[in-house]
Amino acid sequence: MTNHYNVIVIGAGNAGLATAATTAKNGLKTLIIERNILPGGCATSFSRGRFEFESSLHELANVGTEQNPGSVRNLFEYWQADVTWVNEENAFRVITGGEDGYDATMPSGIEAFCSEIERQVPDSRKSVEALFECAQKVEAAMAYMSSGKVDPSVLASEHADIMRMSSHSVDECLNALNMPKKAQNIVKTYWTYLGAPTDKLDMAHYLLMMSRYISGSPAMPSMKSHELSLALDKVIKDNGGEIWYNTEVTEILTENGKAVGIKIGEREIFADFVVANCFPETAYTKLLPKEAVPEKAVKLVNARKKGELFFTVYLGLNRSAQELGIKDYSVFIYNSPDSLEQYKSMDNRDESFVIVNCLNNVIPKASEEGTCTLFLTTMLSEKAWEDVNEENYKKVKNKLAKRMIETYEQKLGISVTPYIEEIVIATPATFARYLNTPYGTPYGYEVQPWDTMIARIMNGSKEQFVENLYFVGAHSDRADGYSSAYSNGYSTAGRILREAKKNEKA
Ligand SMILES: Cc1cc2nc3c(=O)[nH]c(=O)nc-3n(C[C@H](O)[C@H](O)[C@H](O)COP(=O)(O)OP(=O)(O)OC[C@H]3O[C@@H](n4cnc5c(N)ncnc54)[C@H](O)[C@@H]3O)c2cc1C
Repeated sequence: MTNHYNVIVIGAGNAGLATAATTAKNGLKTLIIERNILPGGCATSFSRGRFEFESSLHELANVGTEQNPGSVRNLFEYWQADVTWVNEENAFRVITGGEDGYDATMPSGIEAFCSEIERQVPDSRKSVEALFECAQKVEAAMAYMSSGKVDPSVLASEHADIMRMSSHSVDECLNALNMPKKAQNIVKTYWTYLGAPTDKLDMAHYLLMMSRYISGSPAMPSMKSHELSLALDKVIKDNGGEIWYNTEVTEILTENGKAVGIKIGEREIFADFVVANCFPETAYTKLLPKEAVPEKAVKLVNARKKGELFFTVYLGLNRSAQELGIKDYSVFIYNSPDSLEQYKSMDNRDESFVIVNCLNNVIPKASEEGTCTLFLTTMLSEKAWEDVNEENYKKVKNKLAKRMIETYEQKLGISVTPYIEEIVIATPATFARYLNTPYGTPYGYEVQPWDTMIARIMNGSKEQFVENLYFVGAHSDRADGYSSAYSNGYSTAGRILREAKKNEKA
């Protein structure tokens, strides 16, 4: 058994798998090591009774269609990973409380989206069209940035608009477009997918994510997210890579300040490059020797704000979606039309928003005939969970799950409680145990005005504090989400391949 690899990846989450698939495909001897018995991290599924539940995926951005593929579809083709994609017809339904509350179902496709928003909010069309025009400029700048060489002077001269949009918040930009308030609120529905308040979240990042959902239509694999993870597992193995499951990396080995391998218990394995799909905090405090971690690395992770906590209820129902009158795939239920109030609601377990998905409405065979599944998610701030302890855990968990189900029943006028055959509840503690992230957040670090996606990409290599050690995942440059994790893994593998080439020549 070999004791030396070109690349060792710690963690088989989406970004870890994407990195390993790319390095293995390009001939580097790659080993990926995962604590769990399955690949994917968030991207997996689990079974209870006769139901198989999707564990995290509502929808992916930037898959596009066969005729008009987005970068995620292109990446899976590049890897030759066998995945069947399914597109959603509607982007989302949003129901809000409050005096100016509304119930809007928005289609995917830019033209259809603009027409529907004009119907909902007369005289809003022009400003929404202008928004999608701005999105094209952001896409052009991202294409340049993905090339690997990010020259600030080229960005300033050829992509000045993205620099402007990345230094202004979503709220500032929508006001500058003179978009009517209600249209702004509808356009901001997806803020939860980046988990930052719209008065701080930069426009370039939000627009990129939002327009990719709307223009390419949201998508998912036909057999739940586990299909994606298994397809990448196969790509890695087909290209000579190895995956060790049920194995935890306990240490990152260093020599003269450089990462040179990992330890699993007492066993040492060496590598030219080590890639951590685990959180930087985990690497700095648990895996690296203290003297190998520079002070500025610690300062940076301490300055960053960790992403939100997740709480999810999975329901297996013994009636079909049709029988129960469940027509939508994706519904956002907010307490108020105002996105800042929606953000604040995460501080209160009795008020936080609920996002509900019924997979059977996109993939009818997602569960047995005559049944369906519902997937209800809320997000919470640390504050909303700080009083939870061993004594009250069960009570808090059951109360919140009940409140989420009742919110759905009341807002949609649909009864589901009598038809619950299986119920599984995942709390921040469940996600923390499974993902090994702080408080179980799947969202990395919340983007901030000083710490935008663009700033992170531009800083790129400056954030590499330990030579030969790379970080990939929701906590890295492109922030949270499936698409971000795949492109972050792919681009980091590109950096490693370039370094490996340089080493070969030297
Ligand atoms: C309920 C829910 C709903 C979501 N919905 C969506 C959605 O609709 N669309 C979307 O785009 N995103 C969604 N997300 C977010 C998305 O899933 C994540 O942002 C993304 O998948 C994170 O990927 P990652 O690469 O950071 O890895 P993670 O999923 O965090 O995986 C990291 C892996 O590393 C492993 N690991 C950690 N430490 C070690 C160690 N020492 N040794 C070995 N292995 C280790 C862990 O076991 C884990 O498998 C959702 C997340 C959740 C939880």
